[in-house]
Amino acid sequence: MHLQRLALTAHTAAYVLSGDHHILVDTGEETSREHLLHALADAGLGAQDLTLVILTHAHASAAGNAAWLQRTFQVPIAVHTADAPIVASGVERPRGLSHTLVEAMQLVRAARFEPVSPDVVFGHTLSLVPFGVTATLVHTPGHTIGSSSVVSPSGDAVVGDLLQGGRFGGRLWAHRPVRPAFAEAPERILRSLALLQRLGVQRVHPRVGEVLAMRDIRHQIIDREPWLPAGPAPARLRERRLRAASTR
Ligand SMILES: [Zn+2]
Repeated sequence: MHLQRLALTAHTAAYVLSGDHHILVDTGEETSREHLLHALADAGLGAQDLTLVILTHAHASAAGNAAWLQRTFQVPIAVHTADAPIVASGVERPRGLSHTLVEAMQLVRAARFEPVSPDVVFGHTLSLVPFGVTATLVHTPGHTIGSSSVVSPSGDAVVGDLLQGGRFGGRLWAHRPVRPAFAEAPERILRSLALLQRLGVQRVHPRVGEVLAMRDIRHQIIDREPWLPAGPAPARLRERRLRAASTR
């Protein structure tokens, strides 16, 4: 699998995964549509070349151009089942008040997007092989309940907002792993990061900031937590199967 970062703003990105075909991960806000198309063109692609668009979660920053891509280029849209009703409504789940004034103002602006009916809805994992890319979409909840990440056998993971690079929206220390300011299930972020680590992920590609090293994520986030529940037995069994599949 070949991975390309598509710059949408100075500090945020979407990604294209390429194998026999091409998959777009996240679409940016509606205001960054031109940047998305230019970045795709720089990568030698048009939107009509995509076999799938994955939304890592149900926020305008990920789903802002999904309805347009589906309508204009007939590209199917994939999202986790827990976030599917949110993308179909076009209204983000309400967020808590733990934000600065500037962030709060941005959130008010960004909380809505054009609703889109997803074509592909998945639960725990989704193989991307039928869409022409050797990788697996994995449920990694935390930022939202239905947050998901693409994991490839090369040790790369595209994670949306599960983690961010740097402070102040990636403006400072863009390679430093930072928990997102907002999380619907903050206690699950750590477990999702630990899952990515166990799946052999070496490099984490976030929406905000630059590529993050799993070594840094382990030292600066995972290892700082004294207790990490391993999850119930069915989850551990599922994980073992997934680990076998994703390193094949
Ligand atoms: Zn988000």
